Order: sequence, then structure tokens, then C-alpha cells
Amino acid sequence: MAVNGTGPYDPDNIFAKILRGDIPCKKVFENEWVLAFQDIAPKAAVHVLIIPKKPYVSFIDFTKSAPTDEISGVMKSAGQIASDLGLDDKGYRVITNAGENGGQEVPHFHLHLLGGQSLPPFPV
Ligand code: ADP
Repeated sequence: MAVNGTGPYDPDNIFAKILRGDIPCKKVFENEWVLAFQDIAPKAAVHVLIIPKKPYVSFIDFTKSAPTDEISGVMKSAGQIASDLGLDDKGYRVITNAGENGGQEVPHFHLHLLGGQSLPPFPV
């Protein structure tokens, strides 16, 4: 069920549990800003989720609440992860579902990094 992208942060959401190490993930990358891991139900040959370490509900919340250095840090990290995965030459797609109309399911802001193949025209 899609979530409210502007609601209070739920510290028991599944990505919060992954960040705390309460449930496992297939980690791809970690730095001071983000944790990145394989999507459990991949929609492309490469499907990585990139999440801020701090508790933002959605892109809506993140862009309103996060300081500029964190927004920069998260976006730079996403670019670095794509490069590290060898995706720059052929390109890739980065999307975020925000709130109910966006179809967001997990109420912790995340970027979907999709690539490793020719992707169908947007939306995926
Ligand atoms: P949607 O499911 O519509 O893509 P989101 O943008 O909120 O909604 O994406 C949630 C993503 O999290 C989905 O791609 C889903 O497969 C993934 N996911 C859910 N649980 C886990 C998990 N435990 N580990 C890794 N990925 C997960």
C-alpha cells in the first residue's frame, strides 16, 4: 500500500531496520551519507536502492528538511555508485517514488538505480 510521503517518520519501517542491522541486505556501497543495497525484487539487471542514513520519509521530506551538504552528499553518492557499477558508458535510470500518487511503498526516502540493460520507455 502506498504511503503518505509527508507523514511522521516510522522508525520501524523496513529500511530503518536494514540501517540498524536488524534485518539483512545485500550491501553494494556505504559512506557517511548513504547505504546502498540490492533491491529484493529487481526490475532490471541492475536494481540498487540508495537510502540516506538519516530518517527522511520521502523525497518531499528530504528536499524540505535535509541540509544542502547532505542533499549533495546523497546525490554525489548515487553517481559514484553508478560509476562503480560500470554503468556510466551505457547509462542508467534513477527514480524515486514520493508519497501516495508516486506509489511509494517504503516510508524511508530511497533512490532506485536501474541499469545494466536497455530499459523500456519511462515509466518502468
Ligand atoms: P515500489 O514498490 O512501488 O517500487 P518504493 O519506491 O517504495 O515502491 O520501492 C520499494 C522497493 O523496496 C521495492 O522495489 C521493493 O522491491 C524493495 N524492497 C522491499 N523490501 C526490501 C528488502 N527487505 N530488501 C531490499 N529491497 C526491498
